[in-house]
Amino acid sequence: METELKTATYDANLDLRYADRAPQDQNAILWLTLKVHLKQINPEGGAETGTRPDHDKKPRKIVKWTPGEWANWTEAYRSTGEKFWDRNFALYNDFMLFLNRRADWTYRAHVLCRFRLKLVKESEAHHRINVVKLDPSETFFRSDSANYDNLDMNSEKTRQLSDGTWVEQRAHIHEIGHILGLRHVGYGKAHCPHGSNSGKTMCYGKADKDRLNIMGNGMALSKDNAMPWRLAVAEMTGKGTKDVKGGRAWRPVVHKRIYPDGWPDGDKPRSWVIREH
Ligand SMILES: [Zn+2]
Repeated sequence: METELKTATYDANLDLRYADRAPQDQNAILWLTLKVHLKQINPEGGAETGTRPDHDKKPRKIVKWTPGEWANWTEAYRSTGEKFWDRNFALYNDFMLFLNRRADWTYRAHVLCRFRLKLVKESEAHHRINVVKLDPSETFFRSDSANYDNLDMNSEKTRQLSDGTWVEQRAHIHEIGHILGLRHVGYGKAHCPHGSNSGKTMCYGKADKDRLNIMGNGMALSKDNAMPWRLAVAEMTGKGTKDVKGGRAWRPVVHKRIYPDGWPDGDKPRSWVIREH
């Protein structure tokens, strides 16, 4: 079993110290760490104002960042991104793993999903993003996953639900989901088959519940959003690698915490009795 895993998209660390410690209510902790480099983009030649082409190759008016604005923006990106994706799920461990023997009982730890977002220099990053500061007179900048404007952290109306209510989303939070390997919520379904352009509207969800998801047009989480952690723990433990995508292995729950399972010596592992808080 590996407790460290480095991939092109994140670093994973499985912390088992708590799974083996009294009191026997501690779970294992799976950290996914995403290292992002944010590159400050200013007008050329040291000018205060200038233009920069956006994703549509349209020149947009930009201004120079001040050190204070840049520090505030980058820390807000880091802290809001980390807070959203951290501590959303626990994964059921139904393998003979992370066992903790105490007195006449055996306890089996489950796995808490944690997330850390680090801002790093370019050479150390999993993902790189250029960030411009728009001139106040500029109303639009077509962003993409590697090119942001300073307004991309704002909550924006993205799409309507079936009753006409607007859904809002903060774009950088959705993009972090992509960086972790998540597809749009509709991807692979009949209205957005595999191989289709995942940017088409129905890929962001057909049912209202899907439109509201962070990998649709909204800010809600579902168990499907736990997939990066499930794949990582399967890879690290070598258990459940084939069953993860079918949904059986390392099943996610959206609780902040679940207690380890326990059974007396000579008994069999208990069927699931999930106590949560
Ligand atoms: Zn997307």
